[in-house]
Amino acid sequence: MRRTHYLRSCSVSRVGRGLKVVVVVGVAGVGKSTVLSHAREVLEGSGYVVETLNYGDFMLRYVVERGICRSRDEIRGLPLSEQRRIQSLVARELRSYIDSLPAKYPGSDVVVFVDTHAVIKTATGFWPGLPEYVVKELMPDTIVVVEADPQSVVGRQSRDSSRFRGDYSDVGLVREVMEFIRMFSVASATLVGASVSVVRNEEGKAEEAGRFLAELIKRL
Ligand code: ATP
Ligand code: AMP
Ligand code: MG
Repeated sequence: MRRTHYLRSCSVSRVGRGLKVVVVVGVAGVGKSTVLSHAREVLEGSGYVVETLNYGDFMLRYVVERGICRSRDEIRGLPLSEQRRIQSLVARELRSYIDSLPAKYPGSDVVVFVDTHAVIKTATGFWPGLPEYVVKELMPDTIVVVEADPQSVVGRQSRDSSRFRGDYSDVGLVREVMEFIRMFSVASATLVGASVSVVRNEEGKAEEAGRFLAELIKRL
């Protein structure tokens, strides 16, 4: 059953030039969402249709609608079994949405960014954001790892009052998570034949990182 679905996804989202799925990962606060907004601008300027799907938004909608919790940074504190269940539901929801895009934008070059995490720090240890049952729904063409100097990441976290990332705000921990992210990304990419690249988001240079990412995507 899984295998059949995998093949179906393959023929829909991988074959053909019209739709590219780009999964973007990185430690909390490194600047994924910021870099993506810049990359989107560049790609739209070059005639692409860009859809950015934030995995956390979908997880958040699910938990808020059911009164499970109220903020996105509380989700990773839920019991692991609950996070896994929601993660799996969201993967299928994203797949259906991605499948609807060719009909929504006929004849266009569509780039779907999935803004998510390769590793989530939970009370039970580092947990994969892209296990087989997720990555085989998303079927990314490429996985982009956004990185920055760990000290800068902690600085960004502390300046961003819209979020609570206290469980990640230690330079040593950020460095450790970044190492795990590379490993988990390679493991996920290997399951679906996606490429993996690292995009540096240097301090004050998110636009530059966005431009770099956009150029990379044009070559997919
Ligand atoms: P999360 O995984 O928690 O969603 P994220 O990786 O999406 O985090 P952002 O929300 O994009 O991170 O960025 C975190 C903070 O860092 C924001 O306040 C943003 O403005 C800032 N920021 C992003 N990129 C840079 C940069 N290159 N230099 C300085 N600040 C940055
Ligand atoms: P974000 O705003 O990207 O940090 O996402 C908010 C929260 O959603 C994260 O802290 C995780 O708890 C959850 N989340 C995002 N992506 C995934 C994923 N691929 N698997 C499991 N949980 C995820
Ligand atoms: Mg984000």
